[in-house]
Formats: sequence, structure tokens, C-alpha cells
Amino acid sequence: MTQQRILVTGAGGFIGHHLVKYLVDRGYWVRGVDVKKPEYEPTAANEFLALDLRQQSMCERATKGMDEVYALAADMGGIGFIETHKAAIVRNNTMINMNTIEAARSNGVHRFLFTSSACVYPGYLQKSADVTPLREEDAYPADAEDGYGWEKLYMERTCRHYREEFDLETRVVRFHNIFGPLGSYDGGREKSPAAICRKVALAGDGGTIEVWGDGEQTRSYCYIDDCVEGIYRIMNSDYADPLNLGQDRLVSINQLVDVVAAIAGKTIHKTYDVTKPQGVRGRNSDNGRLREVLQWEPSVALEDGLIRTYRFIVAQLQQTGRLPQVAAAN
Ligand code: NAD
Repeated sequence: MTQQRILVTGAGGFIGHHLVKYLVDRGYWVRGVDVKKPEYEPTAANEFLALDLRQQSMCERATKGMDEVYALAADMGGIGFIETHKAAIVRNNTMINMNTIEAARSNGVHRFLFTSSACVYPGYLQKSADVTPLREEDAYPADAEDGYGWEKLYMERTCRHYREEFDLETRVVRFHNIFGPLGSYDGGREKSPAAICRKVALAGDGGTIEVWGDGEQTRSYCYIDDCVEGIYRIMNSDYADPLNLGQDRLVSINQLVDVVAAIAGKTIHKTYDVTKPQGVRGRNSDNGRLREVLQWEPSVALEDGLIRTYRFIVAQLQQTGRLPQVAAAN
């Protein structure tokens, strides 16, 4: 049997890097594309091309000879980043998305998976901390997250149009807060689990960390191993409409801090900065359709995922001299 050739865009990023490893382990030939290489370890890709996918010619080159495309490249970050870079996000990501899918079509790619986000869900359904879990059909009537969410929703529709009009098999995954080792933990693009792990790691026992908002805002968090498994299963399913990919255990930011503090073996106090961006008040994934389509759903416990993430961040802080080596015991 000929070996399938797969393109992963955003292969220098957090999820893309893990996905490349997963696919190579399963025997696929993988081309990774990104503007940057993975930050914390070498890529496992058979070939890695540094290309700016905002340009059509680069997308043509990236998709040439590929059977399938996992489209993960995006200009993105945590809530602090997406709230303050709306123009750059919609400009860069719309160019990346349109040029990648068009190049996939013109190069005869068989399947194309787009990584969307829970940010497509309307603000009016996410106003309370004990929010009802979001079903896929709840995305309409649309009132997506300003900037990033609208760009994702627009690309979801584009995937449908390409499937219906151009016969390109498309898949759409809506991630709910993916976390784990080898992700950004500092610099402004990190998400809440990584930011909290970093703050707790840098605080002394009995110390205080700053929480954005009052800490009662809620989310669900999905560990990276479940994420790449889910992406692969969705790509290989026959279900073409958007699917949630997340955990459905709702926790507040305050609870998240308490879990990380327990992992670190520290007593941690919190101060609150309510002027910082917090996103929606509550957000959770309804996994009913995911279970129905895949007979599977994410299963790694939040605590287990956070232990691995915390260890990775402590090791990074030690390597960069921000923590003494002795803290390695945690
Ligand atoms: P990431 O930022 O770690 O990875 C994205 C990668 O895309 C980066 O390495 C970046 O360099 C690359 N990229 C940006 N502009 C590019 C360009 N012009 N050309 C080529 N590459 C470019 O993010 P991630 O967490 O790995 O997210 C992957 C995908 O999943 C993104 O599309 C993101 O929007 C989506 N997503 C992630 C989450 C999450 O919780 N991590 C949640 C919802 C959606």
C-alpha cells in the first residue's frame, strides 16, 4: 500500500507539533509547515518547510503532492492576545485559511481538516458561570467572539462551500481550551492553564498570584493527547459538519489555581485584577454529538494533564534560570 502523505500546517506550534508526532508514529509521511520551528524540541516531521501561508504561492508549495491537510496554522493566543490583536488576527488568518484551502483544492488534496474554536459560540449563551454546555447547532444565530471567533466561523462556512461545490472532503473541529506540555507558557500568547502553572511555579509557598477577573469565570480544559487523538478520529470519520472537541468538566479559574497549587504542594493566595480581559463568563462543551459520531470522547483527567504540564513548565523555568534547579522535586 502506498504511504499516505499528510500536511500539517502550524507544525511549529503547540497542537501541530504534537499532531505531527502522532501521525509519524502511525506510519504516515508528514510534511510540517510553519513560519517557525517547534520551540522546545525538534520536529518529528519527515520534511519541515518554513513558509508563510498568508501567501498563495507558499500554500501551493505546501499542499503539492499531499493526500490530506490538517490546517492548524493561525495567528492566535490567549484571551489577552486575541482581545488586543483583532485586526492582525482577522487579516492574517483569513489569508492563511483561504489560501490554504484553495491550494488544497487546486492540488487535488482528498481531505482537509480545519481547526476551529469554541470562540465561534455566541456571547449571549455564555453569560453565566454555570453555563449550559454548548451544542454544535448553538453557533447560530451567530454572535461569535469579536475578531477571532468570526474569522473561525467564516472559515467553517467556507469549508462547507468547498465541500458542496468543489467536492473537497472537509472536516471541522471546534477546540475547547487545549493544554499540555510543549505549549507557550509565557510572553503573552499563553492560555490560562499554562499561565497559572507558571505563576504558581514562580511563587513561593504561602505566596500570592494575580488572577484575571474575579476567578469565578468557568471553562473546560482538554489535554493535548486527547486532542490529537480526537483530531485524527474526526479526520477519518464520515462526519463533515463541525464537532466540539473538548472536555465537559466545568471548572472556575479559582478551582484551576487550587488544583495547580495542590500539584505544586504550595499554599497559594490570589489577588484579582478585574480590569484584565476575561472572555465570556462561562463556557463548556456538550460532547453528545462527538460521542455519537466517534463512539469516543476525551478522557484524560484535568489533574493528570496539569501534573504533566506543571512539570514541563518548571523544567523550562529551571533551564532558563528563572527557577533554581532544586525545585525539580515537583
Ligand atoms: P499555536 O500558536 O501554538 O500554533 C499555531 C502556529 O501557526 C504557530 O506555530 C504559528 O507560527 C503558525 N503560523 C502563524 N502564522 C503563520 C503563517 N502566516 N504561516 C505559517 N504558519 C503560521 O496554536 P495552537 O494552540 O497549536 O493552535 C492550533 C490551531 O488550533 C489554531 O488554528 C488555533 O486557532 C486552534 N485552536 C486552538 C485552541 C487551543 O486551546 N490551543 C483553541 C481553539 C482553537
